[in-house]
Amino acid sequence: MSEQGFTTKIVHSDRLLNLEYGAVHAPIHNSVPYGFDDVQGLIDVFQGQPGHAYARQSTPTTDALQHKICQMDNGYASLVFASGMAAIVTTFLTLLKSGDHLICSRFLFGNTNSVMGTLQSYGIEITLVDATNIDEVKAAKQANTRMVFVETIANPVTQISALEEIGEFCETEKLVYVIDNTLTSSFLFDATKVKVSLIVTSLSKYVAGHGNALGGSVTDSGLFDWQTYPNIFSGYRKGDSKMWGINQIKKKGLRDMGGCMSSQTAHLISVGSETMELRMERQCNNALALAEFLEQHPKVAKVYYPGLESHPQYDVAKRLFKKFGAILSFDLIEGEDCCELLNKLNIVINATHLGDNRTLALPVAPTIYGEMGLEVRQKMGISETMVRCSIGIENTEDLLADFKQALA
Ligand SMILES: *Cc1c(COP(=O)(O)O)cnc(C)c1O
Repeated sequence: MSEQGFTTKIVHSDRLLNLEYGAVHAPIHNSVPYGFDDVQGLIDVFQGQPGHAYARQSTPTTDALQHKICQMDNGYASLVFASGMAAIVTTFLTLLKSGDHLICSRFLFGNTNSVMGTLQSYGIEITLVDATNIDEVKAAKQANTRMVFVETIANPVTQISALEEIGEFCETEKLVYVIDNTLTSSFLFDATKVKVSLIVTSLSKYVAGHGNALGGSVTDSGLFDWQTYPNIFSGYRKGDSKMWGINQIKKKGLRDMGGCMSSQTAHLISVGSETMELRMERQCNNALALAEFLEQHPKVAKVYYPGLESHPQYDVAKRLFKKFGAILSFDLIEGEDCCELLNKLNIVINATHLGDNRTLALPVAPTIYGEMGLEVRQKMGISETMVRCSIGIENTEDLLADFKQALA
């Protein structure tokens, strides 16, 4: 049988686990402890055999979601966490140690950017680079470099990292290549095509889709050779070496740090994920239509959207992504007040968050990039009057009409 399509695989994923009563969704297992008739069963789970002992590490429901995420990401093994930030921070804290060096994109989700300061205070060296420029990434390499971290499309300016070249570089230098695939999701971008080691995703966005659940995931692509990685503890250097990284993140991170997802949440995200392709197609089409409309509008100075030929990485986006994403930002011309515009929009909600079914917008400088200050904003290419929109699944004409009346 030929390889199935993205949605076909997802909607049949649960039921292929041979669920009781022919259920098509994995049931929600709320139990925290798991008991065994023969104590050997409990011992086996503690010793690393498949199974569940305590819900901080896994439940049958989070396991089913992990199985689904792994299929979506084309990966080798996946873990889910309480939020995207829990997934990201746990990955850093379990794979890096004091004295290590991390090369990281300068164009980062605000809270991830804030984490970099925390890691520095723990003695991890960080070099922030323009990740759209492979030469800057290469030049940052030091003897103690262990990892490179980038996002696919950065928010809010929509820069696209040199994903392929960084993959080649990490492979040659034996560096762990971590890609935050939240803005593209596994539907738009198969990160295994660019030699990623670990894919991190905020499931709260396009995967869950409905603004009703927080979650995060880490998927190991199976492409990195953990035998070459010095920070794997000796206790985890056993069995299938492709599992060493994810096992350490699970034990030292999920188990010890405790940022676990509940079964209730896993169920919500699992159901939401079934329509991701349908939602994202509509969202991306809406975003492109709106970007083209705004680019022509006399009150708009600049539109940031990878689907416009004016975008500096338009060619990269076209080559690597199925569509151009659903985040777009814009600057108004001088003298126009972006807050006034936002208050005039009727359908669009003034809210943070992205990947929701509803179109959401916010003024960037005083909100998500407020804490960083003017200097950092300027370095990141964020103007003081920038508006960021996360485009939803509304009917295209309604969305265009709303912006048209608000800009009039
Ligand atoms: C939202 C987001 C995160 C954090 O995810 P949460 O689920 O909100 O914790 C990380 N990276 C990117 C690119 C995001 O958009």
